Amino acid sequence: MTAKLLSGKEISGAIKAEVREVTASLSYRPCLVVVRVGDDPASAVYVGSKVKTSEELGMRSEQHHLPSDVTQAELLALVERLNLDPEVDGILVQLPLPKHIDESSVIEAIDPAKDVDGFHPINVGRLSLGQESLVPCTPAGVIEILKRSDIEISGRHAVIVGRSNIVGKPMTMLLLRENATVTICHSRTADLRAITRQADILVAAIGRPGFIHREHIREGATVVDVGINSVTDEAVINELFDGDDLAKRLATLEKRGATLVGDVSPRDAIAKAGNFTPVPGGVGLLTVAMLMKNTVDAARRRRSENK
Ligand code: NAP
Repeated sequence: MTAKLLSGKEISGAIKAEVREVTASLSYRPCLVVVRVGDDPASAVYVGSKVKTSEELGMRSEQHHLPSDVTQAELLALVERLNLDPEVDGILVQLPLPKHIDESSVIEAIDPAKDVDGFHPINVGRLSLGQESLVPCTPAGVIEILKRSDIEISGRHAVIVGRSNIVGKPMTMLLLRENATVTICHSRTADLRAITRQADILVAAIGRPGFIHREHIREGATVVDVGINSVTDEAVINELFDGDDLAKRLATLEKRGATLVGDVSPRDAIAKAGNFTPVPGGVGLLTVAMLMKNTVDAARRRRSENK
């Protein structure tokens, strides 16, 4: 079997086009504010892409870049100012934060109505109660990939590997909401392969390059690879890729010093799965698209409530 590749590019493009249509119909420009602390290079890239995309889609965006030695009180004061600003619709504090800042306190300080990452306990609670809420972007993007690729979720066995607050746990809630039978696995799961092999839909959110391989995958399953790992070791690349793909990856490694790899062995998924989301070009692209959708949804909900 050769897996069908589910294109994040096409699906995220469709979602962004829908968002653009909505923003064009509004009498105001929804405003996303992204707060970045310190100089983490990956965060700088993520924030840049969020700001750029929001402007492309007809929104306004502001970036606040604070020094890495900013105090927690100063960061909380900025969040409070943004909460009170009626022109700000979405607030996103890019994680991770420097060690001296308590992430939970910052997330909890964000107005839940402006919490476009969907990490505030109110939004997490609403999601688990099955109420309308702002939903974390990456797992919401996975649901969009499945639905827009006509992959049946209802009644299917979905197995998620990873139980983080950002991906694994909200993924569980969203798949339950779609009537899947959900199993969640983690580092203490006994006989992981025996469980993942039962999956009709297997979601990998682990943070280990190529961890899920042939032995974990049921023939014909849909395999969703959430992982984004920057790999610098040529031996790892040789293990995960074949033929043209291997040549391309080695060329990237030589040119840039690293290449992005998911949590699933692409060679094994392509050989055994029915559907597979590639890395890059899969789930990652949906995360930004869903952030845009969350910002527009937050703007419309809050501004109509405040009328
Ligand atoms: P995380 O917070 O580090 O969580 C990793 C999860 O994997 C944990 O629940 C951990 O179990 C589990 N795990 C680790 N080793 C395992 C093993 N040997 N067997 C089974 N489970 C194991 O990571 P995360 O933030 O969820 O991110 C996961 C991956 O997704 C990363 O590659 C990250 O870069 C990527 N990601 C991508 C996007 C995107 O936009 N596509 C967004 C967010 C994250 P325990 O709980 O027992 O420790």
